Amino acid sequence: MKFGTKVIHAGIVPDPSTGAIMTPIYQTSTYVQAAPGDHKGYEYARTQNPTRHALEDNIAALENGTDAVCFASGLAAMDSILKLLNPGDEVIATDDLYGGSYRLMTRVFGKYGIKFQYVGMGDVEALSQKITDKTRMIWVETPTNPMLNIIDIQAVCEAVKEKNIIVCVDNTFASPYLQNPLDLGAGIVVHSATKYLGGHSDVIHGVVVTKNKEIAEQIRFLQNAVGAVPGPQDCFLILRGIKTLHIRVERACQNAEKIATFLKNHTKVSKVYYPGFEDHPGHEIAKKQMKMFGGMVSFDLVANDESSARKVLSNTHYFSLAESLGGVESLIGHPANMTHASIPREERLKVGLTDSLIRLSVGIEDVEDLIQDLDYALSLV
Ligand SMILES: *Cc1c(COP(=O)(O)O)cnc(C)c1O
Repeated sequence: MKFGTKVIHAGIVPDPSTGAIMTPIYQTSTYVQAAPGDHKGYEYARTQNPTRHALEDNIAALENGTDAVCFASGLAAMDSILKLLNPGDEVIATDDLYGGSYRLMTRVFGKYGIKFQYVGMGDVEALSQKITDKTRMIWVETPTNPMLNIIDIQAVCEAVKEKNIIVCVDNTFASPYLQNPLDLGAGIVVHSATKYLGGHSDVIHGVVVTKNKEIAEQIRFLQNAVGAVPGPQDCFLILRGIKTLHIRVERACQNAEKIATFLKNHTKVSKVYYPGFEDHPGHEIAKKQMKMFGGMVSFDLVANDESSARKVLSNTHYFSLAESLGGVESLIGHPANMTHASIPREERLKVGLTDSLIRLSVGIEDVEDLIQDLDYALSLV
């Protein structure tokens, strides 16, 4: 089955009791048993829910995995992955990580004796040197947020092959339409389904995907034991969003490319971060591991200060000033004060995340309107 068919059909069967073509929202907490232990595979809705199962089977297919396990948010999904670890274990993570991931690692799991190192993974050789006999997990995010660096997933997986180390890829920014880390050797993929999978900015949701049966079993155990499960209505919304994933992401990528080019030629803009540019250091790898270059663009201003950035941020009309990404509508954000405020300033500056850096999540509107919108806001600085 090809991708555009999978989004519509994988894991989806007409409802057995009515023939309803759309997966019903099974809004129930429990299921009636004919006699003790005599049930239809569903006992209690924290453990099993048919709407959730349809979604899990669908996403597993999109990532070429065998198992997907859904959670109430992207961070709840990450939380269960990190719970695979034991005190004393070490994790190496990319150094420009989603702010919430950094917070979960450092402030929550750090407390339980798990050690985290943050390294730039552009240079896989440097990464190899950080590995110790305690390293159990490599945490990769690519493209990274918000600097849009590209990490060579296959090279990272090769570097830890034969070692007892799981490579986990946060594939939120690319979406399964653009990139499938399990095919490149990763053990686990995680998504904030809140973003491209849902695609309509109306639900918080997360998912873990793997094709390793042992990992799948442990994550399912944690899903049930911890209980950070999504409700059936949320699963329905993600299922509905996924049906247009390929079309939405393709249009967002096309728009992003035009906007990145417009910004690159703009006199008020000092630098544009976009992996589709041939002079982007990760361009060749992006071309190899992604189908297109994504819908995210970050840029910095010639006037290298926060007040100029604020002017741009408060004067766009179609780009709404908001956290998040991956929806049909375009968003504009200020990482230093918004998504990445929980990262200390000196850490931020080290990776180029300045006070004037602006991040765009490009939507699927008409690109001429989006460009005009940015042009006006930039004319004010
Ligand atoms: C949003 C996001 C998360 C967290 O997901 P939630 O659904 O908000 O919990 C994790 N990683 C990345 C890259 C994200 O963009």
